[in-house]
This record gives sequence, structure tokens and C-alpha cells, in this order.
Amino acid sequence: MPGTGAICAASWRPYATAFPRASSNTGERRPAALVADGPSVVLGVRDSAQAQLRWLEQQQPEYLMTYPSIAAELAKLVIAEGNRLAHLREVRTLGEVLTPEVRALCRQAWAVPATDAYSAEEVGYIALQCPQHEHYHIQAEGVLVEILDDEDQPCAPGQLGRVVVTSLHNFALPLIRYELGDYAEPGEPCACGRGLPVLRRVAGRVRNMLVTAAGERYWPTFGTRSPALYASIRQCQFAQIEYDLVEARLVTAAVLPAAQEDGLRALILSRLPPGFRLNFAYREEIARSAGGKYEDFVCEIPARVTGGSR
Ligand SMILES: [Zn+2]
Repeated sequence: MPGTGAICAASWRPYATAFPRASSNTGERRPAALVADGPSVVLGVRDSAQAQLRWLEQQQPEYLMTYPSIAAELAKLVIAEGNRLAHLREVRTLGEVLTPEVRALCRQAWAVPATDAYSAEEVGYIALQCPQHEHYHIQAEGVLVEILDDEDQPCAPGQLGRVVVTSLHNFALPLIRYELGDYAEPGEPCACGRGLPVLRRVAGRVRNMLVTAAGERYWPTFGTRSPALYASIRQCQFAQIEYDLVEARLVTAAVLPAAQEDGLRALILSRLPPGFRLNFAYREEIARSAGGKYEDFVCEIPARVTGGSR
């Protein structure tokens, strides 16, 4: 049997105290209401990955609920140092986009699946990953979700659009057709038998989109959590600071050798439109957002210039 905590969660909320004093959860503070009752403990999200892993070793959880970026950091430590969470059965993620790279890291580190939940502070859970697939079922009993194109028409399956939500049970502060700033893609009905509508994927936020000088937007992917490519990089973030310039912010033990920088530059530029330039900037750390989230890519060209909603 595992130790005291069957469920471990990371949280940015004030009651989530820092290592080594984590909070036990009961009643309304229980973070893992999606699963059967059981003991749970919470640690603040701002502790280092090393401190979080030491704490998790003490707790020996069966389930770990955290942001994908933290799951990736923990998994990379475990891959480098060996698995010390022998009881772990599943990683549950929320708060950020769960990428295929993070799923692969969880499988490599612990041989467990990562299961994602799509939620927002304003309306709570929006869609949960299907137990049999990697797509999501919209929680249609509690929230009406529309995926709309540029003409405010519903998107077809496979078409990416803006997420617009209407909360069905919030009588204190009704939210009607509220635009979250996220993008997602509807999917075909699921073969699992659940009748709830499907989201094929949740793509991310407008502020995390690259914008070209012509005004086109998309989410760049750099494979930033690939352990083979980025073994010597503890943290990295890419920021678009001009229409043709991306800054790669790296946290490393030492400045990368020129050959490695050149290789990384070639890889990153191959994933950007032609004509882009890349600068390197070495940092002590890359801060999380006010909500404790971590962003792989952020567009720092002001929204009033690019016409974005955030
Ligand atoms: Zn399903």
C-alpha cells in the first residue's frame, strides 16, 4: 500500500503551503473531486521540482494532479535519477495544454498515462478526457460550450475555433456566451458510448499564438519537452518580441556550446515561418504566471498592435 497520501496535487492557492509543510485536504479543500474519495495532500506549485519530488517520495501517491509543465519537470528528474514513485498509477493534468511530449515523458518516467482536464476559473470543469481516448468530453450538464469561427458560426469537427461558454448553474454571476480566450477543436461523437459532445483537442490561448506581419496566427510547437533534444536545458520559454524575432529564454547550468546553440537555432527556425530570427537569452529562472502556470511560448507584441483579444 502507498503511504499517507493516495492523491497528491500541486496548487497555487494560498492554502497550499510550501515544502516541507504540505496541506492535508478534507471537505471543500479536497482538490481531486473527480475521483473516488480518499486521502489527499497538496503542495504549493512554486516549490522547485527537486523539492516537489522529495515531497512526493515521502507521500508515495497513487495519483498526481498537477500542471503539465510541472509533470514534465518531475518526469525529467525521474528519468535522470530513477523512479522513486513506485505506487503511481496516473498523472492528472489541468491548467495548461497537455502536449504529446508531456504524455510521452510520463510514460517514460513512470509507465503511467497522463489524463487531462480542461477547466477555467470562471466556469470550473469544461471537458474531461475520455477514459478510452485522448480527446475530451464536454461537461454539457454544467456548461454550454460553443466553438466558433471568425464569423461566429459553429466550427465543424476538425476546425479550430474560439471557445465560448455559458455556465448553466452559476446563478450568482451568470456568464452567457463568455469568451475565454482559448481555442479548441470539436470532434466526432465518441465510440466509447458516452453521449457528451467531444473536443478533439484544446489548443491554447491567444496570448500563446505566434503572429506574422501579415496578421496570421498559429501556435508554434518546438518539441520543447523532448528529453533527448533538451537534456541540458532545465527550463525554456520562447517569446515573440518582434514580428520576425523570437527570443529563446533558457535556464541551463552553463551557457550552451556554440555548436549546440546552432543546432537548437536551426531546429527552432525550422518550426517558424521563413524570415524569422532567433536570439538566445540565459536566465536564472523563468517565472510562472500569477496563476502559477508556465507558458512555453508567449507573444509579447502588444494585443492592440496585433488585434488579439488578450
Ligand atoms: Zn469517449
